[in-house]
Amino acid sequence: PRIYSSEWPEVPIRSTSIFTRLFASQAPGDVGGFPGSLTAFIEAASGASITRAQLKNLALSFGYGLRDHPATHASAKRGDTIMIYSPNSIAWPVVLHGSVAAGLRCTLANNAYNSRELAYQYTDSVAKLVMTAEEGIPTVKAMFVELGLSKAEADKRIIVLHNDLRWAGGPAVPASPDAAGLVAMEDLLSRGTLEKEEQFEGAAANETVYLCYSSGTTGKRKPKTTHQNMTTVVDITGNTFPSLRPGEQPMIGILPMYHIYSLATILHFSLAVACPVVVQTRFDPVQFCANIAKYKIVFGFIVPPILVVLARHPAVDSYDLSSLEYMLSAAAPLGSDLVKKRLLSKRPAGAKCFISQGYGLTETSPSAHMLGFADSDRKIGSIGTLMATLKARLVHDDDGAVEAADGQPGELWIHGKTVMKGYLNNITATKNAITPDGWFKTGDVAIRDSEGFYYIVDRRKELIKYKGFQVPPAELEALLLTHPEIADAAVIGVDSIEQATELPRAYVVPVRPDQVKTTAAKAAFGASIAKWVESRVAKHKFLRGGVAVIDVVPKSAAGKILRGELRELAKAEAARG
Ligand code: AMP
Repeated sequence: PRIYSSEWPEVPIRSTSIFTRLFASQAPGDVGGFPGSLTAFIEAASGASITRAQLKNLALSFGYGLRDHPATHASAKRGDTIMIYSPNSIAWPVVLHGSVAAGLRCTLANNAYNSRELAYQYTDSVAKLVMTAEEGIPTVKAMFVELGLSKAEADKRIIVLHNDLRWAGGPAVPASPDAAGLVAMEDLLSRGTLEKEEQFEGAAANETVYLCYSSGTTGKRKPKTTHQNMTTVVDITGNTFPSLRPGEQPMIGILPMYHIYSLATILHFSLAVACPVVVQTRFDPVQFCANIAKYKIVFGFIVPPILVVLARHPAVDSYDLSSLEYMLSAAAPLGSDLVKKRLLSKRPAGAKCFISQGYGLTETSPSAHMLGFADSDRKIGSIGTLMATLKARLVHDDDGAVEAADGQPGELWIHGKTVMKGYLNNITATKNAITPDGWFKTGDVAIRDSEGFYYIVDRRKELIKYKGFQVPPAELEALLLTHPEIADAAVIGVDSIEQATELPRAYVVPVRPDQVKTTAAKAAFGASIAKWVESRVAKHKFLRGGVAVIDVVPKSAAGKILRGELRELAKAEAARG
C-alpha cells in the first residue's frame, strides 16, 4: 500500500499521564518546564487569574477533595468518570486537571445541552458526578429527575462551580439560590492536597482520560481518548508552531472547552508552551476585539464562523488588533479565501497576522493536519500537511484495497499515536472505524497535492457541522420520527456561504399528505416542525436550513437514506430560490 508519512520532525512518544507531562517539575519552582510564577489563565470578564504553580496546587487539592468527600455520593476512584457541564471559565482548568490528577476520566458535555441530551451522555459514559456551573444547575437537576433519582441522591452527585472566583483573586459574587445545599468546588479545594498525581506510566498511558462526544461516521459515539493520545498531540502541535516566548504571548480562550479542539489547545497546548490563556465565556465580536486589544493577544485558535464575523464587523476597526500574530482555524472548512483576504486587508499597516488552517477529528485527539504558518498565504484552502509521527492513506473502499491515484480524491485514513483506542461500549463501531492494523477511517474525502498538502473535498459519513459543532443527522431523524404527523424523515447539511457553515435541513413525509398539499400548507407545516424541534434540542441542532415536505425519502435497497440525492435536491431548490 501507498503510505504517506509526515515530514515534520519526529517527537518522542511518552508513556506518562497527561498531567505529569504538563505539570511535572524539572527544577525547584518550575512547573512543566517553565517558571511556576508565569500566568496560566486569566478570566477576561473579572480579571481573576492563576499562575502555573497555583493551577498545579489547585488541581492537586481538587483531586484530593474529589477522592475523599463524604457529602458526595461516592468518593471517586481511579478510572471513575465525572462529567463537566459548564461554559468557559477559569474553573475549567482546575476541575479538569484536578480530576485527571486524581486518576479520573472526564466526559465533557456541551453546555448548551438540555436535560434529555445530558441524560444520554451521563448514562452512556457511566458518570458518577457532574461538575456544573451555577447556570447549569436547573438542567442538571432536571436530568436527575429524568433518570429517576430522588433529590437527596441527585444532590450528592452535583458539584457546583460558583461564579465567585475569590480563589483566583476575583471579586466575591453571591451564590445562586439553586446552589443551596450542594457541594461547591471551593469545599473540595479546602480539604487537603494530593502529594502527587495518580501515575499512568508504561502501558497505563494507554488508559482512557477523556470521553468527548462525537457523532462518529453514522451516529452518536464516545471516542476513548488516552493519556498517550493527549501527550502526543501536545508534542506534535508544538513542533508545527514557531518558537514562542514563554509567558509573553497570550492566547484567547474562546472555543468552548468541552470540545476536543479547545481541550487540546486552550487547556493543554497552552500549558505545554507557557502561553497564558485569556478565557472568554461566549463569543461576542465586540468583547472579542476588546479582549484582544486589552490583553494584547498573540494567538487565536478559532473556527471559520468567527473569522466571518470578524471580516464584517465594525468592531475590528475600532480596536487595536495589531498584537495578533497567529490565528488557526479548524473544526470545519475555512471555505472561501475571500474571508481571509478581507480580514488580512483590515490588519493595521506593518502588522503581520498569519491565518492558517488545521484539520482533525475527536477520534484523532484531534489534530491530524496543519498548514504551517509559513505556507498559509501560499496554500489557501489547504488543511496543510500531515502532523509529526502520523501516517496517512487515501483509499476508495472499506478494505483499503483500492487506492486513490496521484492527486485524486480518496477517503483519508490516519495511523498514529493520536488515534483513539476505540469507542466506549461499542465494539462494532470501533471495528468499523479502525482496521485491525490500526488505520482510522476518517470518513472525510481528501486530495493530496504533489507537495504533500491535503485538501478536504467531501465527506463520506453522515455528519453535519454547524459552526464547528457536530449535528448527527441520525439523532434529528430519530427525533422527527417521534412526531405524530411525520411518517418518515431525513436530515442533511446545506452550505451557507454567508455564514461559512452548514445548516441542518430536514426532508419530512407527512402522515396525512393530503392535508399538506399547497405551497402555503407545506411552508406552515415545515415551520411548525422546525419550532417543535427547537423545544427539544440544543441550539446548534436547530433546523436552520429549513424543513421541506417530500413525498418519499429516497433510500437504497438496503434502506439507507440516499443523502447524495437529497443534497442534489437541496442545491436545485436553492438555485430556484
Ligand atoms: P469533530 O470530531 O467535532 O472535531 O469533527 C470532525 C470533523 O470535522 C471531520 O471529520 C471533518 O469532517 C470536519 N473538519 C474538521 N476540520 C476541518 C477542516 N479544516 N476542513 C474541513 N472539515 C473539517
